[in-house]
Amino acid sequence: MPIKNDMYKSILDNLSDGVYFVDLDRRISYWNKGAERITGHQSREVVGCFCKDNILNHVDGQGVELCRDLCPLAKAMLEGTNQEAEVYLKHKDGHRVPVSVRGAPLRDGKGKIIGAVEIFSDISGKDELMQRVEELRKMALLDPLTGMGNRRLVEAGLNSRLNELERYGWKFGLLFIDIDYFKKVNDSYGHETGDLVLKMVAGTLIHNARSFDLLGRWGGEEFVAIIANVTGEELFRIAQKYRILVGESSLFAGKDRINVTISVGATLARSDDSSEILLKRADQLMYRSKLSGRNCVTMEPEFPLKV
Ligand code: GH3
Ligand code: MG
Ligand code: MG
Repeated sequence: MPIKNDMYKSILDNLSDGVYFVDLDRRISYWNKGAERITGHQSREVVGCFCKDNILNHVDGQGVELCRDLCPLAKAMLEGTNQEAEVYLKHKDGHRVPVSVRGAPLRDGKGKIIGAVEIFSDISGKDELMQRVEELRKMALLDPLTGMGNRRLVEAGLNSRLNELERYGWKFGLLFIDIDYFKKVNDSYGHETGDLVLKMVAGTLIHNARSFDLLGRWGGEEFVAIIANVTGEELFRIAQKYRILVGESSLFAGKDRINVTISVGATLARSDDSSEILLKRADQLMYRSKLSGRNCVTMEPEFPLKV
């Protein structure tokens, strides 16, 4: 159902939300400017394609693919009801963006379902993030490749969190993240593609961080996340979420789909920790994840707790 009326098209294009229409076969017939902005896919690239054709590739927080059986649009058309979900779509650059999705059936004049509309909004708190990014850029605390905080920023953030822990007892956790077999990516596809993969991983981490957490590139293919105000269980869950969403991010180099996994070390800070000791502990836990076969999280104290 192409949009015939220019007025409606202009209204839809001025929404900050993404909006698209599909027919009964889930072929995309309209894609607004908001959808272009949030996904990186231009209207001309996707109109006429099937939404299940590896375009947005929705997954839930456990990494389960929704496009085949659990797609909100398919459900809206099948059941004739509105659907809501929080899912992670894949940006054209490969990283995962958290979005809140609403799907509704579209009916013809006689009430027969002829397709569906999906409205989705980016819930990664990007405006706040962009403001923070601009301030950091001015202070030379950003890593030029990934646009995330650099090592200096991580060190400064860590020291202020440790001060707060000592003074006020505000708990926080640290994640040390290292990409698995990254050298293979460089060796097989070249350094430039390696850089794109680094940006993709950073993009997934940044878009899925809570606004008060601090993520930075520690160096090479290593990242550190300072996770504020958490219990051990929450820290573990956040680490697993990062791990799953990075594993679900991918980009194409020619015909090859590249995706990488991460090994993570997770630990809560202790009041007698120095930043060096805390980082070292997280790094050693990350290394244990490597020894356990990679693509996993190792946490201390051990979690999930053994009973
Ligand atoms: P492991 O699973 O044990 O971590 O294997 P690995 O291959 O990731 O580990 P290793 O530390 O041997 O390799 C890291 C590689 O990351 C080596 C280096 O070439 C690459 N690298 C570091 N910084 C950059 C960068 O800025 N861009 C690119 N493309 N590659 C980088
Ligand atoms: Mg490394
Ligand atoms: Mg590595």
